[in-house]
Parts: sequence; structure tokens; C-alpha cells
Amino acid sequence: MKLELNDHFNQELPADPLTTNGRRQVTGAAFSYVSPRVPSAPKLLHASNEVAQLIGLSAADVTSKDFLETFSGARVPDGARPYAMCYGGHQFGNWAGQLGDGRAINLCEVQHLDKRWTLQLKGAGETPYSRTADGLAVLRSSLREHLCSEAMFHLGVPTTRSLSLIATGDEVMRDMMYDGNAAYEPGAVVCRVAPSFIRFGNFQIFSANGDVENLRRLADYTIKHHYPAVIADHDGDSNSASHYIDLFRRVSDRTLDMVIHWQRVGFVHGVMNTDNMSIHGDTIDFGPYGWLEGYDHDWTPNTTDRQHRRYRYGHQPQIALWNLLQLANALYPLVEDVEPLQEILHEFQSQFEIKYKVMVGEKIGLSDIVRTDYELLANLEETLQLTETDMTIFFRLLARVPKSSSAEDQDDALAIVADAFYKPAELTGDVVASWRNWFRDYRIRLNQSELSDVDRAVEMNRVNPKYVLRNYMAQLAIDAATAGDVALIDELYRLMKQPYDEQPDSEKWFAKRPDWARNKVGCSMLSCSS
Ligand code: AMP
Ligand code: MG
Repeated sequence: MKLELNDHFNQELPADPLTTNGRRQVTGAAFSYVSPRVPSAPKLLHASNEVAQLIGLSAADVTSKDFLETFSGARVPDGARPYAMCYGGHQFGNWAGQLGDGRAINLCEVQHLDKRWTLQLKGAGETPYSRTADGLAVLRSSLREHLCSEAMFHLGVPTTRSLSLIATGDEVMRDMMYDGNAAYEPGAVVCRVAPSFIRFGNFQIFSANGDVENLRRLADYTIKHHYPAVIADHDGDSNSASHYIDLFRRVSDRTLDMVIHWQRVGFVHGVMNTDNMSIHGDTIDFGPYGWLEGYDHDWTPNTTDRQHRRYRYGHQPQIALWNLLQLANALYPLVEDVEPLQEILHEFQSQFEIKYKVMVGEKIGLSDIVRTDYELLANLEETLQLTETDMTIFFRLLARVPKSSSAEDQDDALAIVADAFYKPAELTGDVVASWRNWFRDYRIRLNQSELSDVDRAVEMNRVNPKYVLRNYMAQLAIDAATAGDVALIDELYRLMKQPYDEQPDSEKWFAKRPDWARNKVGCSMLSCSS
């Protein structure tokens, strides 16, 4: 196995002079060198051959001893100098000071073809940023991160990728429900792959420490390596502030794009703290995330957030904006002018209003929505929440509703989407009246469109996945893997490689969450314990 090492972050940015793993406050440095922990009995549970290819590895490499040793943390690749990054962040709206990679270790950067990737082990032991925790990760959360990273990619959502899921053979103590019942669980390490793991929080920590010099170095580094278009577009522009403004605009655009994709597929991140926001606009840090089953703007999968629901589905776009405001504050010392930053935040808001409606329009097969359609969109969102309605199943089945109806009462349409309702008995009175009204208006609108039913269905099925990684599905894979059977990991991985395609052999996954999973641990809400 040969990795084409090409480190930059740890070459061009300042290192913490201390090289031990002991916990500490780090100033004046972007990262600390660390050594991954050697696992006692690593075992490969699953790997993505596609991600392996991205970084220049073959299918044969994936099954090699070298691969297992490298991506479990047992052996550092020749020439690599692993490090943990220093960052801060706002957690649940409050500034938390230094956080940093407490259990993530950047192994190296690799170059393959024209791309450079950072390889990062998650769960490979303590670092100076581990604070009170152990630097480890358990199998259940690692499996969820591995599968969901790849699922998101294939759903067309910007995301970090996952190369491998390796059991360490070590036991990790966790109090999963935070109820005093701590127990040992199997440990695991995931290798995440992304252009970089720079977060909003990396800028925030320098800014909070008043370290403008390093703030500038990090911003210049980010532009040079990850947003080179900033330089190209400002060629000859001697005003460096305009570079940072442009960087912020691009990060804002990408963040907006990401969060609209989340809303489209019904993904709820669960912990949108500013340290969990990638500077690339990639989904990062899959913790207590979840997928909407019943379409409910107030739903959050995170038990820690149960009370305030700060990170609920319907609030994600506003939180993305709030997080961007924190990034703007962090970048302010480089710009020293509020107005251009504020303008970009306003632009986020107005663009969101437009792009969100375009996205929902596409979900219902209207690729050309106009102002007069807004009511139709708003009515749909309201009606969907009247009784528990499965988001994924509803939009997928909606594509089968033909334009014109022979039935005055729209009951033919309701019959087509019937499978999406969790409680069919609730489809009476006002609820059914609302649906009839909506389908009537929808079909009037469809009849104005030139698009045939068949062509509309094709378009809708491109944006409405047939399959998503429902929490209960991941939990079934976790239960099986814990009992030693990893077959379901690969089955779900393959299923989620073509989430928009009909997969006749996998029809069983095109189903509402089963009743047994409604309140089962891991299947609906999750704690942050990982
Ligand atoms: P997150 O769960 O991503 O919001 O993590 C918040 C912070 O806690 C980050 O700095 C993580 O690196 C750190 N952290 C989370 N779990 C652990 C752990 N088991 N050991 C050390 N640090 C951790
Ligand atoms: Mg995090």
C-alpha cells in the first residue's frame, strides 16, 4: 500500500512546541503533534472502496495488513507527522473556549490525481484537547458516522467521507443514556477523508485569543489551498480585506447550499455547534444526527437538546446563519468593516428564502415555481404536519400522482400516498379536508405545466430519495455488528450508494419506521454519548 503523502497544514501553520498528548490550553499554534493510540486487536469491519480509490488505494490495498495498521492507528505512515487541531466554538449558543480535536487525529494529507485529501482518525486516543474525556469512540457511533458519511455523499449532500470502520478490540466505558448506568462497549476508529478539517472554530479560537497574526495566517492558508478562486478573482487587488470578505462570502454560499440539501433529504445534524461547521460547507461530525420520519419541523434527534430544540429540523437554516455570524465576528479583525460582512449575512437570508422554495418546488415536480406558487408550498408544509407523515415515502409516492383526476374528492391521490401516513385513522375531518384541498390545488397547478406525468416523476425522483439511512436501520446494523455479524453494514452501504434508484430487492427498506423502533434507544432520539 502506497500513500502519496503531501502535508501542508502542519508544514505551513504554527505548531504547538509541546509534543506530549497531555491535556492543556494551547496558544499561538494551529495544532499539536500527537501519536495515535495503538489498538490491542484491530479488525476491519467495513471499508469504502470508492473512498480508497479517491486517495489512490486499490481494492487489494484495502484488505492488506498495512491498511489495517495504518487506519486503526497502530502504525504511522512513513514520513507522516500526525496532529490534532486547535479550535474553539460556540456550543448550544454559548462560547465554550478551547475545544480542539479531542479524539480526532489528522494522520496526513495525500495527493491523488489532482486532489489533496486529509486523512483523519476518529477515536484514536487522547490529545491535548481531550479535556475530561478519553479520546476514544464506540462502535455504535463510529458505525453511524461511517455509513452516514457515505450515504450523504450519494444523496448529493456535501459531506466529509469515510474510508474505514475498524474495531479496536478495546473496551470503552460509556454512560449511553447519561443515567448513571455506565458500561463497557466495543471501541472503534473511523478514518474520515476531506479536503481539510478546518472548522469555523479554528478561526474563532485565534480571534478570541486576540491572535490576529495567526488568524491571518490561517485565513491566508485557507484561501491559498481551498479557495484559490478568491485570489484569481482579486488579481492585483492590494486590499487584503477584500480577500477575507470574499472568503466569507464563499463559505456562506457553500453553507447555505449544504443546509438546503439537509432540508431536502430530511437530515437533522443534531449538534450544529460552530466547532461542527466545516469551512468547506461539508457536513461534518456525525453524532446524534437523525432523519425525519414523520415530517415535523420541531423534531430533533438529540436528547441533550430535547428541551430547547435549538437544533431542530426547521431551525437548521437559521442556526447556519447564526454560526456564520460567529465566523464573521471571528474574521472581523482582518476586515475591520462591519458592513460588507453584514451584507453577506443578509444575502444568506434572502437567498435562503428563494432557494428553499425552489428546492421544495422541485420536490413536488415544479421546476419553474413563481410567486403565486408560494401558498401551495406553504400549505403543503402545514398539511404534512397535521398527522404523522413519513417525509421520504410521501415525496417519493407523490411522483406517482397523475395530473388530472377523475375523482372530484382527490381520494385517488390520497390512496397513492396512503403508505406515508403513520396513523391512517387520523385522516378524517379537517385533516382529510386539508389534504383534499391541497391535492386539488396541486393538480390545477400541474395541469398548467407542459411536463408529462412520466417526465415529472423522473425529475422528482432525482431529488426525492427512495432510501435514507433511518436511525433504526443503522441501529439494526449496530446490533448485528456487536453480535459479530457485519453483513448488514455492507448491505446498507450498498443500498445507500443508489438512494434515488428503484432497488426491487431492497423494497423492505422503503418502509415507514417500524413500531418497535418508535421509542427504542438509538432508533429515534440519541444522546451525545459516543
Ligand atoms: P462534538 O461532539 O463534536 O460536539 O465534540 C465537542 C468537543 O468534545 C470536541 O472538541 C471533541 O473533540 C470533544 N470530544 C468529544 N468526545 C470526546 C472523547 N470521547 N474524548 C475526547 N474528546 C472528545
Ligand atoms: Mg465536533
